[in-house]
Amino acid sequence: MTKETWGTVRQELLKSVGQNNYRNWIEPLELADMTDGVALFHVPTVFMGDWVQRNFGDQILSQIGKTGAVVNRVEFRVPTGGAKPNGAATIIAPKPVTASRTTSADLPGATLDDRFTFDSFVVGKPNELAHAAARRVAEGGPVTFNPLFLYGGVGLGKTHLMHAIAHELQTRDPNVRVLYLSAEQFMYRFVQALRDKQMMDFKHLFRSVDVLMVDDVQFIAGKDSTQEEFFHTFNALVDQRKQIIISADRAPGEIEGLESRVVSRLQSGLVVDLHPTSYELRLGILQKKVEQFHPQFQGVTLADGVLEFLAHRITSNVRVLEGALMRLFAFGSLVGRVVDLQLTQECLTDILRLSDRKTTVEEIQRKVSDHYNIRLSDLIGPKRVRTFARPRQVAMYLCKHLTQRSLPEIGRRFGGRDHTTIMHGIKRIEELKQKDNQMAEDLNLLRRSLEDQ
Ligand code: ADP
Ligand code: MG
Repeated sequence: MTKETWGTVRQELLKSVGQNNYRNWIEPLELADMTDGVALFHVPTVFMGDWVQRNFGDQILSQIGKTGAVVNRVEFRVPTGGAKPNGAATIIAPKPVTASRTTSADLPGATLDDRFTFDSFVVGKPNELAHAAARRVAEGGPVTFNPLFLYGGVGLGKTHLMHAIAHELQTRDPNVRVLYLSAEQFMYRFVQALRDKQMMDFKHLFRSVDVLMVDDVQFIAGKDSTQEEFFHTFNALVDQRKQIIISADRAPGEIEGLESRVVSRLQSGLVVDLHPTSYELRLGILQKKVEQFHPQFQGVTLADGVLEFLAHRITSNVRVLEGALMRLFAFGSLVGRVVDLQLTQECLTDILRLSDRKTTVEEIQRKVSDHYNIRLSDLIGPKRVRTFARPRQVAMYLCKHLTQRSLPEIGRRFGGRDHTTIMHGIKRIEELKQKDNQMAEDLNLLRRSLEDQ
């Protein structure tokens, strides 16, 4: 294949991959060699080579084939001694991706969500530390811990807190330069800068902010050159005593494919986690959202118990919880009647089925024996003393209510007891629950902790 044929191939690729992909990934390729059926391209970074190979390798190969050239493989390599990113000299004005409404006009970060403020963030035990740390950072002033590293599962409020910090900082001082972006955007801009030979601009931009926030940093794990650049940016900012805020889905040391020097840098500030939500926090969030949604859905009424039901049943992810509530409101305004529990269940069948965590008999037995501080073998075993018999009955009762198991099945798992024994035990607990406050409280606690996991 000659350079000219490659020109034709590129035109074909432009049609098939689209303008954006073409500009980012195809245009920077330089045909370097063509021998023994191997087309060798020069690329600015290893990462980029991998990416193109994985995403466009086949297409490139087949397009070359169509020109009649005999090629069985395409390879991408960073030329040795050439094209050092830092040596790139052409400086053109940076092209902002999406200039956010609140970030200073020339900062190419991601758009901040207006709804993600401290006011709309509900604080509870599981997130109080993260919230307090975020508040502290949002006050501005001298940097006390750097970075602030927030981590936790999906939908627990990491992005919300980061946006809240950005909003607050901007409100306090409109001149403060806050740059918020996801790690993916960081990488994208980095690759773009390499491609456009604008590394100087890139470095300058990231080193000139007052506060840098990088969301979902786990994304750069395994992406070596992006990590490298991130590390340098990070160090430069720390040296200038600029605040950095990072989020990830797990603790720094648990992110695989992250270099150890990056890990220790990330650990060098304050690391706080957002714990899975509790029932109380979920209920609080729902109540807050009802206030927010209500103006849009005048006239929709949720029956008593609906919020509690949602808080009980949708336990994993606040985003899903919100989505469920939103759907109920939309549905309520459509059908024009009170949204009661039955309507809720009909309307949310899919969501409820997904979040239906099946509690197992074993889990119940373990929880109950922990709670009453007795051994599992005593809970299941034959001894009839009250200290074992009562917790055993409690466990039977919970199995009946929290699992789909039949009484004979439950009996088998309690040391082969007869189903009438199980029935008797359940009845006994039902009676006690009515007249014994301690028992009612124990049941409540156990039930909740089993459902909340
Ligand atoms: P993450 O970034 O941790 O995956 P997000 O910050 O995107 O999660 O939160 C998901 C959704 O849940 C958002 O709409 C957010 O407003 C909401 N949310 C999460 N935690 C809270 C909270 N404590 N109070 C109010 N809303 C919350
Ligand atoms: Mg997020």
